[in-house]
Amino acid sequence: MSSSTITPWVVGNWKMNPMQANSQQLIQDLNQYLQQTPITEQQCHIGVAPISIALLSVQKLINDADSPIKVVAQDLSQMAATGAYTGEVSAELLKDSHIDYVLIGHSERRELFGDDVQKIKAKLANALNAGLHVIYCVGESLEQREAGQAEQVVLQQICDLAAVVKVEQWHNIVIAYEPIWAIGTGKTASPQDAQTMHAKIREGLTQITAQAQHTAILYGGSVKPENAVELAACPDINGALVGGASLNAESFYKIAQAFAQTEE
Ligand code: PEP
Repeated sequence: MSSSTITPWVVGNWKMNPMQANSQQLIQDLNQYLQQTPITEQQCHIGVAPISIALLSVQKLINDADSPIKVVAQDLSQMAATGAYTGEVSAELLKDSHIDYVLIGHSERRELFGDDVQKIKAKLANALNAGLHVIYCVGESLEQREAGQAEQVVLQQICDLAAVVKVEQWHNIVIAYEPIWAIGTGKTASPQDAQTMHAKIREGLTQITAQAQHTAILYGGSVKPENAVELAACPDINGALVGGASLNAESFYKIAQAFAQTEE
């Protein structure tokens, strides 16, 4: 359970999974857990990020069930508005479809799909200017950690973000610290190491924005029900970005329960 004044977020990144029928089943199961033992939006924001062609069907299931789950796009175009950009989906088109949340800067996009700093800044600006909420991912590689550069790398990624976000847009930012070596590997940063980096990120944010104490900083990297309680107890860890474990409704729900704040 998180004890911070920041409402935690638990977001499932489904990546290039699952098949349509399974994504429908996953949402139905999740809705059922939430109906049996509700987690309110005051306790924890819960989001799922399906593949782009499932965004609207997942959203329909969520709306029909009056479920509090938020639908998050996994990416968006660096190009704004509409135009001759084959294969792209812009921030404005997401907004037009009532998809209000988007992941930007996931390490898989950075490493496999050429999302360099320039592209990420363009995506951030487009998303924020269209009124989307952004979950911005940062994190160091194993090589960078072993070279003692983890903090420098992550704080530079925060500076990249700060170069784009306008004062009035900070409340639409959630940060996800995901050490690359912990993603999908079964290795988790120890709660102490994660807390140390989260505190550094918050300290960095304090130099940049008055929203620093209100910005949720999520941890991502092999989060499971078994380690979620310990991570949730860290003062600067305000939730989780979950990959593998979010493909199982029970595991994902248990992670959300671990982070949900109990009402006083
Ligand atoms: C992720 O891809 O954002 C992630 C954290 O994956 P996993 O939980 O599988 O490590």
